[in-house]
Parts: sequence; structure tokens; C-alpha cells
Amino acid sequence: MSEKLLNFVNGEWRASAAERHLDVINPATAEALAQAPLSPADEVDEAARVAAAAFPAWRRVPAPARIQYLFKLKALMEEHFEELSRSITLENGKTLDDARGEMRRAIENVETACGIPMMMLGDFSEDIARGIDEYMIRQPVGVAAIICPFNFPGMIPFWYLPYALACGNTVIVKPSERCPITLQKVFRLLEQVGFPKGVVNLVNGGADTVNALLDHPAIAAVTFVGSTPVARHIYSRAAANGKRVQAQGGAKNPLIILPDADVELTTRIVADSAFGNAGQRCLAASLAVTVAGAEKTFGPALAEAASSRVVGFGLEPGVEMGPVISAQSKARIEGLIQQGLDEGAEMIVDGRNSAIRGYEQGYFLRPTIIGDIPAGGAIATTEIFGPVLGMMRAKTVEEAIELVNSGQYGNMACVFTGSGAAARKFRYEADAGNIGINVGVAAPMAFFPFSGWKNSFFGTLHAQGKHAVEFFTQTKVVVERWLGEWTRKF
Ligand code: NAD
Repeated sequence: MSEKLLNFVNGEWRASAAERHLDVINPATAEALAQAPLSPADEVDEAARVAAAAFPAWRRVPAPARIQYLFKLKALMEEHFEELSRSITLENGKTLDDARGEMRRAIENVETACGIPMMMLGDFSEDIARGIDEYMIRQPVGVAAIICPFNFPGMIPFWYLPYALACGNTVIVKPSERCPITLQKVFRLLEQVGFPKGVVNLVNGGADTVNALLDHPAIAAVTFVGSTPVARHIYSRAAANGKRVQAQGGAKNPLIILPDADVELTTRIVADSAFGNAGQRCLAASLAVTVAGAEKTFGPALAEAASSRVVGFGLEPGVEMGPVISAQSKARIEGLIQQGLDEGAEMIVDGRNSAIRGYEQGYFLRPTIIGDIPAGGAIATTEIFGPVLGMMRAKTVEEAIELVNSGQYGNMACVFTGSGAAARKFRYEADAGNIGINVGVAAPMAFFPFSGWKNSFFGTLHAQGKHAVEFFTQTKVVVERWLGEWTRKF
């Protein structure tokens, strides 16, 4: 029987009294690694009360002192870098190199949040009227709940956690029930850092656990990253309960390839974007629109890159792509591929039926490319979240941009070209929050917001950087007058 994961509440590790635990599966081997409790509402209640009780003292710790905890955390994360990266590969399936990249991004957010004493500065205006000054200060909001998806179990909690803490809030993190092991290890480090009891809390669980967080009166702010239907649910339910909320949703990321794009570089970048992390990235390219005959060169080049990609268990050297997360996910992706073919699309590289020697039980698909996909069909419009690239043709840049903007999502859009003018037009007109110009995974650094648009995002302020600081603080404006010998003169 595999290990039962624990919750971390009030500075203690606690076994959940959950009626159900879910197996956490290594998707390359189908072996159970651990069991995740589906924590019930009373355990959420306990975590929320504890976090609320810890808040008044934590917000009084001066910002320069609060960030000392983050410096310690950064050092511990560096020390445990390999262990955390390997844990991501085991529970999620991505290659060790991709997992290392993920942990690097997590640490980068801790580093950025160490600038809180500067980032939390307020504004001051002297003499807004005679002898009267006005200023704005930022104060923490209280208890924040951080709800995470399976695809970046090490990084996504860090889009929020370090900023929330540095701003003086207390937190409850709810990892994905499919990939909760890495965060369990991160919390061992948070425990070592020595945050005061109740400042950082971990509650494992699924949808019911999330709903208990959304309804809890002691929770002031909710962040979410996951699929669009759930993001919409989180946004409306948390807002109806009077909380501030940001919810990042799903994606269907198009990229435009012009005939003047560099063939070798573009092919490599597009293939990495579409097939890296087995396409399970919210910034995965999933639609390539070739313009003015560019498919003649890029079609065969991408097909070659897809067929030659090395697929296998992510801890093995040389492997470039791992499995998808679950048997259900694999079946769903295969179903969508078939639907695309039934709608008249053309199979260019077929990655179905791909058993990997030694890992026959794993949930593997090989890179797949489908051409001539009809606009409005399954491949063009559905978030596949697997290693599948759909290809379409456009006669002009204008037509390609129209295709890009016709989609319901707006997480990322990219252009590949040697023309600055075409790139500028694209940057200006594309309806997406993250734009890549000769870049295939336009993931913002920690000091920029992760800017999804349309159905990829519900809210106003995004993850990371200054947006996170604004999200985790509320502004207070003070108008001040002092009567006395000097001010009376005014
Ligand atoms: P998911 O929506 O299934 O789950 C995300 C979280 O929501 C999990 O913690 C889960 O326990 C919880 N949840 C699931 N169903 C729920 C329900 N009915 N009610 C309340 N809570 C519920 O997402 P996932 O499959 O874990 O992650 C993949 C998705 O996340 C993809 O759609 C991907 O595009 C998206 N994603 C988006 C971004 C972004 O920045 N926009 C980043 C990463 C992933």
C-alpha cells in the first residue's frame, strides 16, 4: 500500500480523516506512488480558522523581516532542486529537463517576491489642500487560497505563494489531486524555514475541498489555475461569496508561420512548443497556421521533427517527451484525433498506438500532426492538452490573424517571421495576453504578469510580479491634517 499524503495545518502534519483517497499514479509506469486524501469540509474549515488566527501577527512582521523567510526558502529549494525536479517527473511524466526548468521558474518567483519592500511601497502627495497630505498604503488582504492544476505541480503554486506571504497574508494551498507529491515535499521545506504556525497550510483534496474553500467566510482571496469550465465556476462562486478572485483557464494556442521564417529555428521551436511536456502546457502550440505557401517547407520539416522525437520515461537520458497524465486523458486525446479525421482532416504524423518498450502500461502517445483541419472543427477549437499539432493554411497575414482571433481562448499567440513589420502588426492585433515573436512558449518571467485573455482568464489581476502584489494587497488611502502652531499658519 503506498504512502498516504498528509495535510499541513497550524505547523503540524496531519492525517486526513477523508473517506476517500485517490491513487497518485506515475503516468509512465501506471504504478501508484502515493494516495491523496479528498479532505472534507471540516478540515478546510480548520485550516481557514488557523490561517485567519495567524494573520494578525504575521502582518505585523515588517516586510524586510518577512522576506528573510523567503531567502531561506530559496536556499532550501536550491539545495533540494534535484529531488523536487525528480518528484515532478515521477508524478507528472514530463522529462527531467522540463521538470528542472519548472523548478527554476518556481525559484525565480521566490526571488522576485524578495523585492516586496520595494514592490509594496505606497504613494504620497503633500499639500493636496492647505496643510493637508494624502497617502495610499498597501495592506494584506488576509487568508488566501491557492488552487492548482496537475501540469506544473512545482511551479504554479509559486506564481502566488511567495507574493501572498511577502505581502503579509497567510495561505492555504490545494494541490492537484493528480500531482500532489511535489508540494508535499515543498511543504517539508516550508516547515524547515520556520514560518510561524498557521501562516502556510496545505490541504489536499478535489472538487469538494475546493468548494469548501470558495465558500469559507474566513478566506478573502482565491487564485486558481486549471481548465476553463472550472475557472469559470471558481470565478463566479468565489465572487458571489465576496472574495477577490483570479482564475486562469485553458488554452488553444495558435501560431502563424510566414514563408520568411528561419526554417531550422522555427521547426525546432514549434516542435518543442507543441510536444514539450507532451503538449500538457497551457502555453503549448496546438494550431499552426502557415501563410502564403509556407506549409511547403514547414509541413515536411515539422513532420520530421515530430516523428524523430524520442518518447519515453522522463528520468531516462535522451528522452524528449513523456506520457500524458492518465489513461482517461490518453483516451480523450485519441478520441479527439479520430473526431478530427472524421471531420475531413488529414493525418500527417500518427502518434496513436505507441507502446514504449519497458513501459507498456504507461499512458504514451507519440507526437501527432494533423493537416487541413477545418476551421470550427474539433482539432481547431478544442483544448486537446496532448502532443497534437493541427495545421491550417491562410493566404495572407490578415487572414491568419483573423483565424487566430476567431478562437474562444487568448492565452498565447505566436508569429514566426523575418519581417519586423509583420511581427509588429501581429503583436498589435492578436487577441491574446502572451505573445511570442519567434518564440514558441512565451512564458512571462516572474516580474511580468502571466496575461491570459478571453476564456483563458477570469479576473483583472494576473499571476506573478506586480499584479500579484496588487492582488494580495488592498489599498488604504489616508487624508491627514495636523493642527498646531506650524500648520495654523496655512
Ligand atoms: P482542472 O480544472 O481539472 O483542475 C484544476 C484544479 O481544480 C484542481 O485542483 C482540481 O482539484 C480542481 N477542480 C477540478 N474540478 C473541479 C470542480 N468541478 N469544482 C471545483 N474544483 C475543481 O485542471 P487540470 O486538468 O488539473 O489542469 C489542466 C488545465 O489547466 C488545462 O486546461 C490548462 O490549460 C490549464 N492551465 C492553465 C494555465 C494558465 O495559466 N492559464 C496554466 C496551467 C494550466
